Amino acid sequence: MKTFYANKVAVVTGGASGIGLAMTELMLGFGAVVIMADINETGLNAESARLEEQYPGKVFARKTDIGKADEVKALVDHAVEKGGRLDLMFNNAGLGLTKPIDQITMDDWKFAFDVNFYGALYGTLEARRVMRAQGGGGHIANTASGIAFAPMPLQAMYSATKAALHALTLSLRAECWDENIFLHSVIPGTVATPIFAGSRVPKGALKPEESARVILEKVKDNMRIVFVTSSDMDGAKNCNHPDLQPFMDDYFNHIAAARKAGNYTAM
Ligand code: NAD
Repeated sequence: MKTFYANKVAVVTGGASGIGLAMTELMLGFGAVVIMADINETGLNAESARLEEQYPGKVFARKTDIGKADEVKALVDHAVEKGGRLDLMFNNAGLGLTKPIDQITMDDWKFAFDVNFYGALYGTLEARRVMRAQGGGGHIANTASGIAFAPMPLQAMYSATKAALHALTLSLRAECWDENIFLHSVIPGTVATPIFAGSRVPKGALKPEESARVILEKVKDNMRIVFVTSSDMDGAKNCNHPDLQPFMDDYFNHIAAARKAGNYTAM
């Protein structure tokens, strides 16, 4: 990993927390320069100040709302200004968005797509612009979710945004391959982070560092879909298998009933 990441310049959105913070720390440990971006300015400043002490001159922070195209462009330009180039773009920031359909307004839908889909689209287009101009290619890793393959009930917004992002990423992977720009759809597993808002962290969730390490390993190996866990891989295979459709209805109906009763940890 060190050979691949040393001296590379990386942007990580959602860098102040969870998986993004863990990827930032690991890459700094491998000798990369990292530009952390987040909408949470307090968290971002606290984490970047802590990391600056350990990795002086290697870590930069930029408050960014990824739902705003001009802010993402400014972030990528800032990264090039600080790092001299851009090798790796991790479009990782995202929101959990769990709500029953009757409680979702049209404004909620627009906000969900602004952050979880358009945020990563802006990051992808801006990173590609810079990577093409510098001529050396690069990697763009977009964090989707196992839910892109196995859409969970009472998570319609999350499912739809992540499925759209997954499709965008794989389509562009083939389109940009001959530019030496490699896209990855990241499926990080179930990871104990603030995205679960404390109480709903499922049993057996990975630590952010565990997920981040596998993501970095598989991006280095240029994997098309970065599956961190075998359970997400099984979910992707089973959910779309023509012979398993009745079983899938039973399974998701059971989850829906549990969630409607307030139990979000049922599997
Ligand atoms: P997290 O809440 O710890 O981190 C997400 C970060 O994104 C936060 O720091 C938040 O402030 C930031 N963010 C939110 N909206 C933003 C915006 N508009 N602009 C910039 N930053 C913004 O959660 P996490 O679990 O580390 O999530 C990282 C990614 O992994 C997300 O895309 C999430 O959907 C995905 N994911 C997580 C899990 C899991 O189990 N934790 C599973 C599948 C996918």
